[in-house]
Amino acid sequence: MEKYWNIFTASFSDYGGYLWREILNPHWGNYFYWLLGLSLFFWLLEIVAPWRQHQARIRQDFWLDGFYMFFNFFLFSLIGFNAISNIGVQAFNDFLALFGIQNLVAFKVQSWPVWAQLLTLFIVRDFIQWNVHRLLHRSPFLWKIHKVHHSVQQMGFAAHLRFHWGETIVYRVLEYIPLAMIGFGIQDFFLVHIFATSIGHFNHSNFRLPLGPLKYVFNNPQMHIWHHAKHMPRKYGANYGISLSLWDYLFATAYMPEDGRDIELGFNEVEKYPNSFLQQQWYPFKEKNSGENVTEPELHAAETDLNDQEKSGLDGAISV
Ligand SMILES: [Zn+2]
Ligand SMILES: [Zn+2]
Repeated sequence: MEKYWNIFTASFSDYGGYLWREILNPHWGNYFYWLLGLSLFFWLLEIVAPWRQHQARIRQDFWLDGFYMFFNFFLFSLIGFNAISNIGVQAFNDFLALFGIQNLVAFKVQSWPVWAQLLTLFIVRDFIQWNVHRLLHRSPFLWKIHKVHHSVQQMGFAAHLRFHWGETIVYRVLEYIPLAMIGFGIQDFFLVHIFATSIGHFNHSNFRLPLGPLKYVFNNPQMHIWHHAKHMPRKYGANYGISLSLWDYLFATAYMPEDGRDIELGFNEVEKYPNSFLQQQWYPFKEKNSGENVTEPELHAAETDLNDQEKSGLDGAISV
């Protein structure tokens, strides 16, 4: 037990020291300044060449999302996730050791060139995350957590990192085993993280950049805005891509019926959703199951198919 406690306390001081050193020492491999620089870059693009020109440069929830950005990228790690995950990994390794398993590596890629390993990690992780994202939309409880991200009503780059801390846990836990099965020979995946963060900022930015045929490979604002559409004809949504749009085209979950520049964003009754950081953290745990991930047009379509008696039953089932 003492071993776990030592890992727990060391994680806080290690990560706190790490973050402090990052802030004090600007250098090319520095996450703090990369996040700041990327954010300023995409904000500048939104100011100089906005897709929705009527949208304020400091849009609705701009500062809230700015706080989310630093909370999810840094503070959540600082105040807990780093400690919890270090213990989780240690406990998991100890559990495997009971069966004489030293590690989970099934695919050894450590002899590959560094670029090939980075590319492999980027593609494999993105595919896992595409699947996790679909799950967030399909599971009623996970959807409540993921709704924080979908509560954005005006889109801009900083909305990228507006999500509940529970998502970090879901993603990291579910991607841990598949990634541990690949024996990477490098420790530093900085480039992959920064590249994925750049595409994430880009997807959410108020900026139009036609990618030509590359749109079938990379996610982009014109595609991702439809993922945030308030009215979606498909029950569990579409365009789940994180960095790559490729998976949505391969698995027929792509949806871009027209130019989505001015579509309404959010979900049914998004205007009633809490709009402060602390309330949004707490809300998924107290919100009742309401079938809200079933979008409005679909419910109306379902209602018209039913006779009055059945209809009243359906109304009862979906009322909050
Ligand atoms: Zn989503
Ligand atoms: Zn999004």
